[in-house]
Amino acid sequence: MAIEERGIEEIVRRVLEEMSSTRSEPQGSIGNGIFLDMNDAIEAAEVAQKELVKLSFEERGKIIESIRRAAIENAEFFAQMAVDETGMGNYKDKVIKNILAAEKTPGIEDLRTESFSGDNGLTIVELSPYGVIGSITPTTNPTETIICNSIGMITAGNSIVYSPHPTAKETSIKAIEVLNKAIVEAGGPDNVITTVQEPTIEQANLMMKHKKIRMLVATGGPGVVKAVLSSGKKAIGAGAGNPPALVDETADLEKAAKDIIDGCSFDNNLPCVAEKEVIVVEKVADYLVSYMTRNGAFLIKSKDQIEKLTELVVDNGHANKKFVGKDLTYILKHIGIEVPAGAKVAIMNVEGNHPLVSAELMMPILPIVRVEDVDAAIDLAVKVEHGFRHTAIMHSKNVDNLTKFAKAIQTTIFVKNGPSYAGIGVGGEGYTTFTIAGPTGEGLTSAKNFARRRKCVLVDGLSVR
Ligand code: NAD
Repeated sequence: MAIEERGIEEIVRRVLEEMSSTRSEPQGSIGNGIFLDMNDAIEAAEVAQKELVKLSFEERGKIIESIRRAAIENAEFFAQMAVDETGMGNYKDKVIKNILAAEKTPGIEDLRTESFSGDNGLTIVELSPYGVIGSITPTTNPTETIICNSIGMITAGNSIVYSPHPTAKETSIKAIEVLNKAIVEAGGPDNVITTVQEPTIEQANLMMKHKKIRMLVATGGPGVVKAVLSSGKKAIGAGAGNPPALVDETADLEKAAKDIIDGCSFDNNLPCVAEKEVIVVEKVADYLVSYMTRNGAFLIKSKDQIEKLTELVVDNGHANKKFVGKDLTYILKHIGIEVPAGAKVAIMNVEGNHPLVSAELMMPILPIVRVEDVDAAIDLAVKVEHGFRHTAIMHSKNVDNLTKFAKAIQTTIFVKNGPSYAGIGVGGEGYTTFTIAGPTGEGLTSAKNFARRRKCVLVDGLSVR
């Protein structure tokens, strides 16, 4: 071959190479799953999903392991970034939550095949992906939810387009970039997880309406749950809670007091499962309060101060966002109270219909309501939980009382004799989730909830009984 011909051949090869690399870089991509435009983010996720399901189940498992490793390696970095960006929660507990999501979210073992065999052959029911899932995530657990949803949804063979809360966008984008890199390192395709550089409610709405999004998962307050349930698509809604902690006269009061304060102060009360009010039988209330003050509670006695605090933190029946996830010192300094060293939660005695009780505050402020007996406690707890059916906690040694409360309140999570976070697997048995779907009934969501059930029937064969 002449020298000129070899030169031309080389040029053609380079041009072809360049053309193919331009083709593989999706439109509007700024790398690692982040896009300028929501439509492009969805298109790229669709391409990725088709590649993902070509991999073997073993290869999918390796991708999940790689996601877990990357999340653990970055748990501290994510925690610090979330605290810095959102100004909510605390670093130490966010590290625990990130590691929890990475380690205890179920993986491929969650996808179990059902089988039926008999005279007419063998039938199996298998779990298949939806395709591209749109997941809307909260500011209170930004990276935890992304880690948890990514493990569950990718395990089931889906790709994901995230719509993170705008107040946690940098942190959420960072988590998406890190997890995408982990997927590619483990042999997976690009863009299995995508999002937009500027997430907003408008972008979320665009995503919810897009025809290529086959399922929606919302983790947040009542507004977003209602939005996905009105979308006309298959949707999972993980909504608000207002978990009551009930204490009866049979409880180990010292332990109950410590557990309640530990649960209530965890990540400055941001978790949707965290104790939001205490309802205690009058006879033991003084003991409980006394033990609480020895375990990190600061008792506000003055009616005037309780009123000022209520005006500060409750805004039109809801939590004042300025104080959500803040620490106690920051909150109380606004009403001129200096918090003694070691105090992490403010407690105060109030009536059952007090705004501090009915609002989901998500801050370390814990109203205490005294009632005559356990039946009155159960009635009030059911009322102040507002039918969310999210989480309830009870401290009692009486099995009948525990059963009566659990039956009456019907919450997705019911923690007996422990801090609320035991319900999501911190010091309690069982797997974790950061998407607790009370409204739509899936409960503690995992891979199987992000999959479609498909029946394959082989007639008159393979039944060997
Ligand atoms: P939020 O409802 O303000 O926001 C959650 C997400 O929904 C964000 O991404 C937000 O941008 C989006 N969003 C809100 N309204 C929307 C709408 N109308 N259309 C489209 N998107 C919308 O909640 P938050 O402050 O981020 O999180 C705290 C709330 O979430 C609390 O009520 C808490 O109990 C709940 N939560 C529930 C769970 C659970 O698993 N059930 C987990 C974490 C938080």
